[in-house]
Amino acid sequence: MDESIIHVDMDEFFAAVEKLDDPALCGKPLLVGGNPRGRGVVCTASYEARKFGCHSAMPMAKAIRLCPQAIVLPVRGWRYREVSEQVFDVFAQFTPQIEPLSIDEAFLDMAGTERLFGPVEQTARRIKQAIRDQAGLACSVGIAPNKFLAKLASDLEKPDGLTVITSDTIHTILDPLPISKLWGVGPAAAKQFGKLNIRTIAQLRKTPLKLLKETLGNSAEHFYRLANGLDDRMVQPDSRAKSIGQEQTFTLDLSEIDELRRVLLQQTQQVARRLRKHDMSAKTVTLKLRYGDFTTISRSITLGDPTDVTEIIWKAASDLLQQWADSSFHPLRLLGVTVTQLQPSAGGQMSLFESSASKKLKKLDSAMDEIVDRFGDSAVTRGDAKGHKEKKLKTENRFATEAAEVTETTKRKTENRRLRIADLKETGKRKNGAVHRLH
Ligand SMILES: [Mg+2]
Repeated sequence: MDESIIHVDMDEFFAAVEKLDDPALCGKPLLVGGNPRGRGVVCTASYEARKFGCHSAMPMAKAIRLCPQAIVLPVRGWRYREVSEQVFDVFAQFTPQIEPLSIDEAFLDMAGTERLFGPVEQTARRIKQAIRDQAGLACSVGIAPNKFLAKLASDLEKPDGLTVITSDTIHTILDPLPISKLWGVGPAAAKQFGKLNIRTIAQLRKTPLKLLKETLGNSAEHFYRLANGLDDRMVQPDSRAKSIGQEQTFTLDLSEIDELRRVLLQQTQQVARRLRKHDMSAKTVTLKLRYGDFTTISRSITLGDPTDVTEIIWKAASDLLQQWADSSFHPLRLLGVTVTQLQPSAGGQMSLFESSASKKLKKLDSAMDEIVDRFGDSAVTRGDAKGHKEKKLKTENRFATEAAEVTETTKRKTENRRLRIADLKETGKRKNGAVHRLH
């Protein structure tokens, strides 16, 4: 059995986002949820509030009785969705096989990614770090041979946990747990198990299946398999192709247009690189701009043809930024770029009809991708051409040299990547009866 399924669950998600936006809330008991005077319930209790017995789904009024000093905050759905998108964008940097379970948790199928990222446990650590870097939040991760065990694992060392269940450790980990930890065991099933004196997973595992069937009927086999750590449900990727985006909140509002261009260029490079990584092209480029008072606006442009070329996306994004700056400049709290209307790239088929300029840009992109793959995001950045013609030429020359140096490796690596994606698509087809799409 391979441990290739990852379950990621954000820690105290709504409360964590509130702490992120207002660090003064850190370390305090928080209750995010409905109105305490109505019949509101707690959506998320921060860990500090959980110490007093507060938990999600509890009536808010009761939670406040348990922890009167708690700070009660309303649910800001739009903001949690926004952060959730950042988190899912991180997942997409590692695999297209993502099954969202809710706004703050997902299964990732990492089978076949070892060639690209190394052992799954190491990749899981990188995912945790990337979520911390890009969304500012902590999460808990479970790694296991299947979905049931991965979800169970992510819960074992919360918060900020990383737990691996291998085929060798299944029984050691499962056996002492109460049967309520099994997927699908609610109060009714727990009562049935009680009749058989079954309280732990070990007791269930050691009960003859025949006896279980007499009491539990059809569901006996399901629970028996889970107690033995068996679950053959596949990761079902979300089939709606959506968007790829990158955004950044600044510690202090940024008021220098050159600085904003520099940030946008970095973001555009990352977005375009991820498009290429997933063999996708995009038709619409959208900027997101948030002012100091949280007013958020967006500016979009739809291109004539879908593209994955950094230079073309950068031209669109930087034009949008310039038009906005010329007409309504404000210092920015947040800047981001997102591409939508995604479709699979035409790949090699188009290359016959492509202009040599476009081929050159693609060659540059693949050279840049190669450098970033080898040395990381900060290793190389394009020059911002605006007003620096000479510098731009120099930069292009530098890229030309680097491109020549890495062409050979790039060819090999591009081929590997194609194989890997073809491989993943095949697996996707087999598992889901349809080719998955990315978001
Ligand atoms: Mg969670």
